[in-house]
Order: sequence, then structure tokens, then C-alpha cells
Amino acid sequence: MQIMVTNDDGIGAPGIKALAEALTELGNVTVVAPDRERSATGHSLTLHAPLRVFELRQGWFAVDGTPTDCVNMGLHSLLPSPPDLVVSGINHGSNMGDDVTYSGTVAAAMEANLMGIPSLAVSLATYGATEYFPDAAKIALQVCRAMIRQGLPADTFLNLNIPNLPFAEIKTPLITRQGKRSFVGKIVDKIDPRGRKYYWIGSEEPSFIDDEGTDYNAVGKGHPSLTPLHLDLTNHRALEALKQWQLA
Ligand code: MN
Repeated sequence: MQIMVTNDDGIGAPGIKALAEALTELGNVTVVAPDRERSATGHSLTLHAPLRVFELRQGWFAVDGTPTDCVNMGLHSLLPSPPDLVVSGINHGSNMGDDVTYSGTVAAAMEANLMGIPSLAVSLATYGATEYFPDAAKIALQVCRAMIRQGLPADTFLNLNIPNLPFAEIKTPLITRQGKRSFVGKIVDKIDPRGRKYYWIGSEEPSFIDDEGTDYNAVGKGHPSLTPLHLDLTNHRALEALKQWQLA
């Protein structure tokens, strides 16, 4: 089995190391990941600059691009054949609710899904210091085994968020729906050393609406959350309402 691993925290992050090590249980792992942190780059693709690749060691490729670039490079250039599975993470910080639209971690899984490769995004739900990446990697391995055994439904990729706990304290995974963020937008403005103003987006931990059945609710109760996602952003429930509109 051929597995490609990527992330958005950069190839030096502890989460990708734990994930790549755990997935060697399943087969041959190739890592193709950004050469530095690219968190919150979403599904962006580098089209107006060349990309450089550095093979840091056997099967570990650093790309000076986004997670989406890495999936493209892996599938169309660096791997000898298309992988059986693309796994992205383990992100340092959750990717739940509306945050999935910002996430480079989730976008990498999305890109693999576009290319017809089964894929999974994995995140550890803490922004603080943590030693639980290897514990979360064990959960990711279990989910990968289930993906291989069951096969994914059509047009589906998976988003896994794992509570920041030692393996023995992590409860059974729950299948969830994408939750909703309660936005507390915050811009910090300060003065730089040359006396000019600068601005910095977002300084608070994200908060979510704690609805039953959501990713956030599951993780809050100590369960890994597994959400099936797809790329169809159509709001199917709104189609009928919009068809009633007078447009011309
Ligand atoms: Mn990240």
C-alpha cells in the first residue's frame, strides 16, 4: 500500500512525524509537505511562481508551496504511482466547524479527493503545548484501517479531530456533522519599531456553538470526531426557495 502524507504546519512539525511513523504499519509512506508553516492557507494553489522541492531524506520531500501544491507535486511528479491514500496532518489545533474553509490541512485532503484518491485530514484539538501527537496518530491509523476496509462513499473525504488526551483516555470515535463557529472577530493593532501601525488578525481561541451531533460537541466530550465532507457547496435546502425568486 502506498500512502502520501502532507500537512500545513510544515515538514518539521511534530504532528507529521507522528503520523508518518504510525502509517508505516499500513505500507510505504512518502511525505510531501510545505517547507514551513502554511496554516490557514486554505485551498490555495501557487500559479505565479515556480516551486522548488528538497528531498530532506529518503521519502521526505519539502516543497516551498502550499498543502494543495504538495498534493499536486506528490501525485503528479514525486510519487512513482498514485497513492492508495492521502493523509494530511496531524494539525496542531482543531479544524472543526466553519474553520475547515480556512484550513490548509483539510484543503490537502480536499485536493486528493478532487484527484480521486481516498483522503483524510487529521487534527489534534489543542493550540497549546502537547505531547499527544503519537496518541492521536494511533487513532488516525485506526480510521485509515477502517477507510481501507470499508471504502469511502462517493465524493467523500474525511475530517478527523482528536481530543488532546493520552490514548487510554480517548473515547470511541463518533460520526459527526460540521459544527458552527461563534465568531468573535478581533484585530490587534500596534506600532512597529519604525513607528508604523500594523494589524494582526485573530488572537483568541476559537469558540463554537455546542450542538449535539457536531464535531465540536464530540471532541468536547473526549471522543474523536469523524466528519464526512464533500466539495459540493450548493445549499440544496435553499434551491427551492431561490427558484421562487423573480430574477428577470
Ligand atoms: Mn496548521
